Amino acid sequence: MSNSPFCTSWPASYTAAASFCFDLDAESAVLAFAPEASSRMSVMSHQSYGPLIGVPRLLAMLGRHGVKATFFVPGYSAHRYPDIVRMIVDQGHEIAHHGYLHEPLGEADEKMERSYLERGLEALDEVAGVRPVGYRAPMWELNYRSPAILAEYGFLYDSSLMDGDSPYELATGRDAESIIEIPIHWSLDDWEQYCYVPSLFEYGVIESPTKTREMWNLELEATTNEGGCFVLTAHPFLTGRPSRTNALSDVIEAAVAAPHVWVATMSEIANHVRSLGLERRILVEPRL
Ligand SMILES: [Zn+2]
Repeated sequence: MSNSPFCTSWPASYTAAASFCFDLDAESAVLAFAPEASSRMSVMSHQSYGPLIGVPRLLAMLGRHGVKATFFVPGYSAHRYPDIVRMIVDQGHEIAHHGYLHEPLGEADEKMERSYLERGLEALDEVAGVRPVGYRAPMWELNYRSPAILAEYGFLYDSSLMDGDSPYELATGRDAESIIEIPIHWSLDDWEQYCYVPSLFEYGVIESPTKTREMWNLELEATTNEGGCFVLTAHPFLTGRPSRTNALSDVIEAAVAAPHVWVATMSEIANHVRSLGLERRILVEPRL
């Protein structure tokens, strides 16, 4: 057994892992920082395309590959699209926590942070009867207080940090407690490839799905050849469009076809990592 604090062994004969995530942000990703945009019908329609059109297309694509994914669902999206969230659950995919109104945690005090968590938990329970074990911070903006709070609320894993190619036990700062961290990266997020909304997302672009597929396939191949865990994050309002779904489908096909790659949901990966008894990593906040 290796001394690495990162997960280096995978179930059965697999030597690497891959997981496909969808963040069901819809309107919440806009309204959290621009509430006045609620009256902009066209902007709202750009966001609602995700749950209404994107999710059914993506679910059909996942079904063709026999792949289960993880959907990070803000409570507000669950309340606004309960039937869509129930459709995701009915098809056997994992639902995880993604705030209530996609609130960034960088500026939140502890009381606010707890209220976002509680409101999100209530919404997922009300709509789908789900108690999620996973959490992803909106905009991937975690703070140093968050891991202990997540552990207190019973979360098994978080997926918001970028300091590894494979999952690890993240120390919460309280005794021997830890949560599993499943690292992500901006280059494996469709937002940077496709998110163009004038006057809201200033640096938005519309890249070719061919270029995006190439980037993601290169990273899938390289990460899994090194024994790591490839985690892709897509948004139904972006990747739910036809040619982009097809590009993602090709990446999923490559993962499924690779005999050494375990394609699993985030909670399956977290449970596996927990079973390994890895040494905890302590992340220290830089002080000025
Ligand atoms: Zn999000």
